[in-house]
Amino acid sequence: MSKRGMLIVLSGPSGVGKGTVRKELFKQNDVDFKYSISMTTREPREGEVDGVDYFFVSKEQFEENIKNGEMLEYAKYVDNYYGTPLKYVNETLDSGHDVFLEIEVNGAIQVRANCPDGIFVFLTPPDLIALKNRLIGRGTDNMNIINKRIEQAVNEIKMMRNYDYAVLNDQVENAVDRIKNIVKTERLKVNRVMPDYLSMLGDEN
Ligand code: 5GP
Repeated sequence: MSKRGMLIVLSGPSGVGKGTVRKELFKQNDVDFKYSISMTTREPREGEVDGVDYFFVSKEQFEENIKNGEMLEYAKYVDNYYGTPLKYVNETLDSGHDVFLEIEVNGAIQVRANCPDGIFVFLTPPDLIALKNRLIGRGTDNMNIINKRIEQAVNEIKMMRNYDYAVLNDQVENAVDRIKNIVKTERLKVNRVMPDYLSMLGDEN
């Protein structure tokens, strides 16, 4: 049986640039994570593709999935559900691949409770003014939604204490390098490599 993969969770306030950092990370030649596509009830934005950016589903469908225990985590965020389908994550980790989640903070707390050996990374904005400008600059949401998101971001920053690492997103390339370094270091942790050493010596405990 191949060794179980690592679960890497990137989280942080909306608008901090999680999506941009994640996309840049996945362009790197030396990165081989499997991205877990989330499910959501929100409407697709222009250019978003079902099954690539998200699985776009109805509220009824999402609630059915929750009821059937098919979600690793889920959260209601600005009036919509967002969540991680459990099956893909489990199967991919079991096949020995590392799985990467990009999710908001309430979901990350649930994952932490279920998968304590995951790597929990909190992406931080250089400052909240920059965060606000980025949300407005994106031009995809109206002011009411933007204000709700800012209020949420302040509360989210306070949740940094639930994570293992804080990665400053001053420049996308810097944030990507920091995440890659974190994962490299995590691979060397004794509790991750010790089972390999023991099994080399014929001791499975
Ligand atoms: P957006 O609507 O901008 O795509 O996403 C809104 C927020 O939901 C972002 O913070 C994003 O990271 C988060 N999100 C995306 N997918 C998931 C998910 O599967 N679970 C949770 N809990 N949050 C998610």
